[in-house]
Amino acid sequence: MIRGVAAIVGRPNVGKSTLFNRLLGERKSIVDDTPGVTRDRIYGDVEWLTQTFRLIDTGGIQLEDQDFGDEINMQVDIAIEEADVIIFLASAREGVTADDLAIARKLRKAGKPVVLAVNKADNEKLQMEVYDFYQLGLDDPITLSASHGIGIGDLLDRVMEKMPVRDLKPYEGVTSFCVIGRPNVGKSSLVNAILKEDRTIVSNVEGTTRDAIDTPFFYEGREYMIIDTAGIRKRGKIWENIEKYSILRAVSAIERSNVVLFLIDGEKGIRAQDKHVAGLAHEAGKGVIIVYNKWDAVEKDEKTMQQITKKIREEFKYLDYAPVAFVSALTGAKVQNLIPLIDQVHEMCTLRVPTNVLNDVILDAQMMNPPKPHNGRQLKIYYSSQVSVEPPTIVLFVNDPELLHFSYTRYIENRLREAFGFTGTPIHITARKRS
Ligand code: GDP
Ligand code: GDP
Repeated sequence: MIRGVAAIVGRPNVGKSTLFNRLLGERKSIVDDTPGVTRDRIYGDVEWLTQTFRLIDTGGIQLEDQDFGDEINMQVDIAIEEADVIIFLASAREGVTADDLAIARKLRKAGKPVVLAVNKADNEKLQMEVYDFYQLGLDDPITLSASHGIGIGDLLDRVMEKMPVRDLKPYEGVTSFCVIGRPNVGKSSLVNAILKEDRTIVSNVEGTTRDAIDTPFFYEGREYMIIDTAGIRKRGKIWENIEKYSILRAVSAIERSNVVLFLIDGEKGIRAQDKHVAGLAHEAGKGVIIVYNKWDAVEKDEKTMQQITKKIREEFKYLDYAPVAFVSALTGAKVQNLIPLIDQVHEMCTLRVPTNVLNDVILDAQMMNPPKPHNGRQLKIYYSSQVSVEPPTIVLFVNDPELLHFSYTRYIENRLREAFGFTGTPIHITARKRS
């Protein structure tokens, strides 16, 4: 579970990305499929003692054709909006600069917890420079050398100390869902269409821990929550067009949801950016529904739906468990089908299969199609058990976990789906050595 979010801000060259890499253990760069493109990761999860928090390097969020003052401003705004604690990084080598003063002013105004860290304090002489930083009017500065790994523990202690208690997870007792997709697919139109249909929007009650950006409503006597609704509406196009920012938002919305509606623009068809978004939905282990929007704008005959479904299956192979819904947020057509589908998927995410029933199905599967021997040794599944839900997680107790091949996991998964449905939810299957 993620305790909260921290973000690093600071002017260019103070060492933000060095610190980020150090805290994440150098796992930063991920290479894109396209040759020559390295997409730098700007967020990751940091474990410190017994807790985990998410870290964002706002320096990785860049604007095209904007001067650098605007860029820092935007980065600080994003940090203020997204983070529970802000790590303000400066440099002992350059001392306090005009940009540092401007950033400090903005942070003081925002009133969020700030940890001031002065980097590049590689030796004692530079560590003395830290006194200069009291003029920023923030907390006592921490001295740091990101590249030498000095002061990292103190920094992390301070971050955890200032982090409010706010585990990021779905609300209890209500079905929470979010709507994600690239700009202009119709996210806000769909949210409006869902809320329009004669539903009672529950206003936020003071003193509850509900996030102001989530919209609760009742439908047929049950309570639902649309996650990050204000985020969809408020910031508008300028920010959403910054892909890295919109990915950050999507990730945090997904985390707090039970079910994710992944929207595709039917008018424009499937685009490369849709794959990123779909990947986020899948990796989170949440329920997923693929919503093909703007159905009104699609030229169609009786075969079109089938053809598009086939194309969706080809493009998003790993989301083969997600049902596909065709809707028009604009006209409202078929939007009323979404809530029952969300209910169904959420139910499947939380389905618990009794151990004896599970074992019957897996024994049968093993008998019908025994695992192929590997180097003369054959996998034996003795028994299995479902250890958790959301997503359903199944442990197979076996003779040797190394013998469980990906294709056999896939086969077991398919048998489980045939037997129990599990519509819309990923299933995690792992093997453990029988003790
Ligand atoms: P960013 O622009 O804020 O992300 O800064 P970078 O992480 O790219 O670092 C800018 C430069 O400062 C790089 O050449 C780093 O190697 C260097 N640097 C980062 N941390 C330290 C440090 O603790 N001491 C020293 N001397 N150099 C550092
Ligand atoms: P967002 O950026 O994903 O929130 O997308 P919006 O909800 O702002 O919609 C982007 C544009 O698509 C707007 O002009 C909407 O009117 C239009 N739009 C949204 N849903 C539909 C739909 O179902 N059919 C058609 N034809 N247009 C739609």
